[in-house]
Amino acid sequence: MEKKRNWFAELLGFTEDSEYINKYQQDANVRSGIYMAVIVVGLEVFMIIRYLYRYLIKYPDKYEITVESFFKYTKSYWIFLGVGLVMLIYGILYISGRIRRSNVISNLVIIGFSGVCLYFGILTSLGDFQKGKMIICFLTMALFVACLLIWKPYISLLLLTAIASFFAEYIKTRAVNEATGEAMELGSGDFINYVTFFISATVIAISIYHQRHRVAVESEKLFTLSITDELTGIPNMHRFAEDAEAFCRTHKECIYLFFNIENFKIFNDQMGFEYGNEFLVGFGRLVADTFKDCPYARQADDHFVALAGSDYRSKIDALRDGISRISDYEGYIDVKVGGFMPEDKTMNPLICVDKARYAAGTIKNRSDEHFRLYDAKLDKVFRDRAYVLNNIDKAIREGYIKVYYQPVMRSEDEKLCGCEALVRWIDPDVGFLSPGAFVPILEESRQIHKLDKCVYEIVCKDLRSTLDRGLPIVPVSLNFSRLDFELMNPVEVLEELVTKYDIPRDYLHVEITESALTSDDTTLQSYVDIFHEKGYAVWLDDFGSGYSSLNVLKDFKFDLLKIDMVFLRNFGEKQESETILRNIIRMAEEVGMDTLCEGVETKEAVDFLEQAGCGRLQGYFFGKPMPYDDFLSMIERGEFEISRKLL
Ligand code: C2E
Ligand code: MG
Ligand code: MG
Repeated sequence: MEKKRNWFAELLGFTEDSEYINKYQQDANVRSGIYMAVIVVGLEVFMIIRYLYRYLIKYPDKYEITVESFFKYTKSYWIFLGVGLVMLIYGILYISGRIRRSNVISNLVIIGFSGVCLYFGILTSLGDFQKGKMIICFLTMALFVACLLIWKPYISLLLLTAIASFFAEYIKTRAVNEATGEAMELGSGDFINYVTFFISATVIAISIYHQRHRVAVESEKLFTLSITDELTGIPNMHRFAEDAEAFCRTHKECIYLFFNIENFKIFNDQMGFEYGNEFLVGFGRLVADTFKDCPYARQADDHFVALAGSDYRSKIDALRDGISRISDYEGYIDVKVGGFMPEDKTMNPLICVDKARYAAGTIKNRSDEHFRLYDAKLDKVFRDRAYVLNNIDKAIREGYIKVYYQPVMRSEDEKLCGCEALVRWIDPDVGFLSPGAFVPILEESRQIHKLDKCVYEIVCKDLRSTLDRGLPIVPVSLNFSRLDFELMNPVEVLEELVTKYDIPRDYLHVEITESALTSDDTTLQSYVDIFHEKGYAVWLDDFGSGYSSLNVLKDFKFDLLKIDMVFLRNFGEKQESETILRNIIRMAEEVGMDTLCEGVETKEAVDFLEQAGCGRLQGYFFGKPMPYDDFLSMIERGEFEISRKLL
């Protein structure tokens, strides 16, 4: 229930403010103090210079000034100047964060400074009053102190009433007409001016207070939004990073933890989006309860982070125990945790979280592991990954990406009928990299299309230069990643290159790996159709490597089935391999697809596959992937004879 508001208490400022608002106002006061101090210091320096000018230059004979008399007559300037300097220096140190921001000390400095301002205002104005002039200096000082600084309204009221009464009393007891030596009092006109001034000053001070208070409240709201996760209401990463730095300074042992809710996608699909959100809110609360004395946050989606001390194990257990209590979901839901203990505790918290996240990612589909610490082994993988991601653009730009070609033989004549383009990264710093070291990383980071485009262009260039030299060419098969179909339009890319380099379309084959396929992927199905329409052959790569069901064969129209090398792994040892291979080849033939078997390493395998009716063979038995020049030389030297049946 909303608390009833007490307007009167609010008007006079008797309500409690949050720590944020108090600090906001304190900072604003120190800042105002600096402006005031600059004026005071400037004014007092001017007064001292004016004094010296008057008595040393303008009227040098009027008075004889000694060091003693100089200080005697300028004493008040020096005091005022000193206090102004204290305020100025303290304010600058405070705002620049070079000293601890203590409320007590800053209040003392501000109150001391204000007191001196008012006191000198009174002194100066008393002198003016005695000369029968207005008391502007004191009134200005009162405005200066009451309206530039933020006082609670009841304090402004008390302050202005007190100093007004004090000044009236002061005049009554101290003011003496300088000419006649008689005691003086405020005349009624002056008195009315004077009272009007103090009423106005009080109203202005209170109204300024409320305006500034409103700004502070709005600023607090924005600040809270900027450090809070919108959905769960727990801190966000911005806040986490700040808290983590403070935590690391005060704790001997620190471990960054990254939580990934396992199976959350399925939970969301089954239970609906809203229920999924409720679950995240519940999990956020669980993290907050479990790590209440530590920094914690929601990073994004179903990812949360925390920074714990040496008792992190028990906290992880508590979190895992608590997850079943968040909802009555009956399916499997758990949390995978990655941990990173920085050796250097001043390390950027966001980088530490990244490492913990990476560790959590390595146990993603392992049902038996729930916690993985980021260790030296993972560090190597992490660094390699970072190297790939940070250098791929440079590698493409500088030509470190090379294409190797592996021969494909027709089994009926054992002659060359094509080749497969396989990418290599030959880096001047780290040396030779196989696709296994960077293709999965580029896929995961959705950058694989950059690499593939580059590979296709190199292949087209190589083919063009061979044609230009009047040499024969063989068809080249190109590997396409599933993500190429999401990240670019692969047909357009290939068409552009084919036109640019003027390559016959039937000399380029499209290889799509089995893991890319799902029956309901209509986009991919239509791409296969478009490739066919344009005149490219489309091959299914790595068939049997264990990803999809046979069902996909009826939904996609492939020209050729590339049988994965797993079937030849224990060739000769297991009779079953032969039976399976023979049946795959027969099945492909029956649905109208050619066949190619990968990983052919021995003469026995060649003989068997020929006899089983496999159309093409690829493997180390015929040749490893090699640079294009080597490939051409082998053709030139007759080591590879080109088959008459290329297409
Ligand atoms: P893949 O398309 O199935 O390519 C065949 C892989 O088997 C090649 O490995 C090749 O060197 C290897 N291989 C060929 N014959 C034999 C053999 O007799 N024995 C053994 N043990 N291995 C053999 P590589 O070049 O390391 O490529 C690995 C995978 O990387 C490729 O598998 C393909 O999925 C991917 N890849 C290669 N180049 C590209 C590319 O340009 N783009 C994309 N997206 N992926 C590529
Ligand atoms: Mg391939
Ligand atoms: Mg393959």
